[in-house]
Amino acid sequence: MRLSRYFLPVLKETPAEAQIVSHRLMLRAGMIKQASAGIYSWLPLGYKVLRNIEQIVHEEQIRAGHIPMLMPTLQSADLWRESGRYDDYGQEMLRITDRHGRDMLYGPTNEELITDIFRSHVGSYKDLPLTLYHIQWKFRDEIRPRFGVMRGREFLMKDGYNFDLTKEDALHAYNRHLVSYLRTYERMGLQAIPMRADSGPIGGDDTHEFLVLAETGESEVFYDSQITDLKFGDRAIDYDSVEQCQAVLEEFTSRYARTDETHDEAEFAKVPEERRRTARGIEVGQIFYFGTKYSDAMGATVADAEGNKVPVHMGSHGIGVSRLLGAIIEASHDDNGIIWPEGVTPFHCGIVNLKQGDDEADAACDALYNSLTAIGLEPLYDDRSERAGAKFATMDLIGLPWRITVGPRGLKNGVVELTSRRTGESEELPPEQAIARIA
Ligand code: ATP
Ligand code: MG
Ligand code: MG
Ligand code: MG
Repeated sequence: MRLSRYFLPVLKETPAEAQIVSHRLMLRAGMIKQASAGIYSWLPLGYKVLRNIEQIVHEEQIRAGHIPMLMPTLQSADLWRESGRYDDYGQEMLRITDRHGRDMLYGPTNEELITDIFRSHVGSYKDLPLTLYHIQWKFRDEIRPRFGVMRGREFLMKDGYNFDLTKEDALHAYNRHLVSYLRTYERMGLQAIPMRADSGPIGGDDTHEFLVLAETGESEVFYDSQITDLKFGDRAIDYDSVEQCQAVLEEFTSRYARTDETHDEAEFAKVPEERRRTARGIEVGQIFYFGTKYSDAMGATVADAEGNKVPVHMGSHGIGVSRLLGAIIEASHDDNGIIWPEGVTPFHCGIVNLKQGDDEADAACDALYNSLTAIGLEPLYDDRSERAGAKFATMDLIGLPWRITVGPRGLKNGVVELTSRRTGESEELPPEQAIARIA
């Protein structure tokens, strides 16, 4: 993409309404624009990162054997009356009446809708296990929408639902989600720690939240510092293996790690004092096992091997896709702007032409652009007639992992300058070598 043809409305001033760094940087980098309280338009740069995050979530869910689909944003109130949550959910639910006077709502989550789909189409234990998920906009009329996309009213969530014959099978699905979430967050350059949590309006007994440690996080968390040494990495996992998934769950949840909702001082005191940590965290996901809560209420049963009708065991599992942009920026930025992890960056590198209009510099930039594109990388080429300083500031603000600077002086010696956004280190290299470094 050539910057002169792109839409990147960066702001020079720091927007006064933004209280935390990720919100400030998303506004300044021209990623989002508030449409109304807690509701945002995703401008091209923000949209690109959102799509990258979504793509990682899809890949990791599919790898775990979960099946993508899409349910609507607007739902009929009838299903929610069946589960009993139409009254329970309270003011966070946006209620709408259509022209025929029918009660509708903008879905804050999808347990009811998916349970209805399940009961309409699945009747036998032979069709289990089954995990369906979608990535769809949700609406929660949050009392205090704030921090930009971190606590929006309209937000993008991946929500998945498992259906199993037995509690044992459903707990395997729970563990599978835990593993897939660890992989998902790590691919985005994040450490998200599973912590024992409270189930809230979803209901159920077993639940973990995934928290990214950050001073601006809204949750207070308590943990054993050893937990931050754990890394899932690129280990191979067989998602069908009950033992393997269980082992990962044990490894990642055996140390003390809880949110304030479930924090227990007596238990915490058993952690050696020098390892006890109190901090703040951003909730980027949560997994639940809730048994037959919805299948009982809504009659979602299957015939077991003996032909008896039994309610299915379920769980639901959510990732805050749009919130993740904020969480990643909170975890990865400096005074000059965002530092995108490679896995989610909107462009792989920036090209800065120091002397736009100079035949040689323009030709070198074009050649570089074409070579990068030919190997499947996406550069953002700053081809505007701006000062070098302004071009560098824009690149630093939008946080691409690499910048290639091209100017007449370097070209005389056959080199360009390759700069890492994260370390700030620069190196002069022939263009081919710079490309090889990025690829
Ligand atoms: P919170 O405690 O932050 O209100 P929640 O526990 O109500 O979140 P869940 O029902 O667990 O949210 O939804 C799954 C995920 O969706 C959350 O872990 C979070 O990452 C994301 N999420 C929830 N509410 C919002 C929101 N208002 N804006 C952006 N993302 C959200
Ligand atoms: Mg909430
Ligand atoms: Mg929560
Ligand atoms: Mg939650």
